[in-house]
Amino acid sequence: MLRISVTDRCNLRCGYCMPASGVSFQPKEDLLTPEDLARISGFAYRLGVRHFKITGGEPTVRGDLIEIIQRIRAFGSADLSMTSNGLQMPRLAGPLKEAGIDRVTLSVDSLQPDRYRDITGGGRFDLFERGLDATAEVFGTVKLNVVVMRGVNDDEVADFAGLARDRDWTVRFIEFMPLGSSVLADGDPDQFLVTADEVTAAIESVHGPLTPVDAAVDPGVGPARLLAMPGGRGRIGLIHAMSRPFCETCNRLRLTSSGILRSCLFDGGEVDLLPILRDESHDSELASDKAFFEAFTRCTAMKPDVHASRGGRAMSSIGG
Ligand code: SAM
Ligand code: SF4
Repeated sequence: MLRISVTDRCNLRCGYCMPASGVSFQPKEDLLTPEDLARISGFAYRLGVRHFKITGGEPTVRGDLIEIIQRIRAFGSADLSMTSNGLQMPRLAGPLKEAGIDRVTLSVDSLQPDRYRDITGGGRFDLFERGLDATAEVFGTVKLNVVVMRGVNDDEVADFAGLARDRDWTVRFIEFMPLGSSVLADGDPDQFLVTADEVTAAIESVHGPLTPVDAAVDPGVGPARLLAMPGGRGRIGLIHAMSRPFCETCNRLRLTSSGILRSCLFDGGEVDLLPILRDESHDSELASDKAFFEAFTRCTAMKPDVHASRGGRAMSSIGG
């Protein structure tokens, strides 16, 4: 699976994701172009990668997003999904599907408008709801990502799970990860961690016992443990990167929007692909494929056995 961050910019400022102060973005001219992204994805496809996820930052802030997706879609029948905060989906859901996106995951950490605004640094919940409706209508279903944070939104776990009881949606609960500097990661980040076991207990106390579901039935399930509620239509996903790291089965590489291939969200090593992209002596696909192959192999070898307990770079700059 290759996660492709197309920008480190965002139209929201979630307190757990963006730096607490002094947010600085990379200059626009340093962003990979649609052609760069197509070259790297095309190589990954030839290498055998069949799952691609477009992410950021917020991918919908890129004006050329549709062109990027069309170019990536053009080289084959891989699974192509996108993660977004959803605010631009009323405008973009249709064009994204037409361009070739198979599935969309939307992030939302509260169903209470005031709390949603506080968590996102000013976001409007009514705009999120419109984006959610548009996404569900165009794509038929939707996945929701919820970062559970103690004392912030952990009292809403059962409410979120309820969304997957009545609809054919997947609600994925993510453990908070201390990455880079953020309002939550600075200081004592452990106080915000709500483990997947605690999430399970909170759901079961309201909705009844959860039962495991074969992950193979759900495309692009990634590292989530999938569960079903009694009589529920949708699915519950648990992403327990902190309480039970899944590094030994992790097959992800992450590409930042400036061309750095990362082996891990936390402190694994990275390889800069820009020199390969800008090397004019690579006059054929074969020549650059050789260099990409060496870079991908080197990066994969840097994957840690078990990730560190903290990461140096914020999620928005790596591509969550
Ligand atoms: N802007 C898009 C969005 O919010 O979905 C895509 C990028 S965002 C970085 C991808 C996912 O990472 C979101 O679901 C977000 O909630 C999650 N995320 C960001 N920082 C995180 C952290 N420190 N711990 C756990 N999840 C985090
Ligand atoms: Fe933006 Fe997504 Fe990070 Fe929130 S989680 S600040 S929406 S990139």
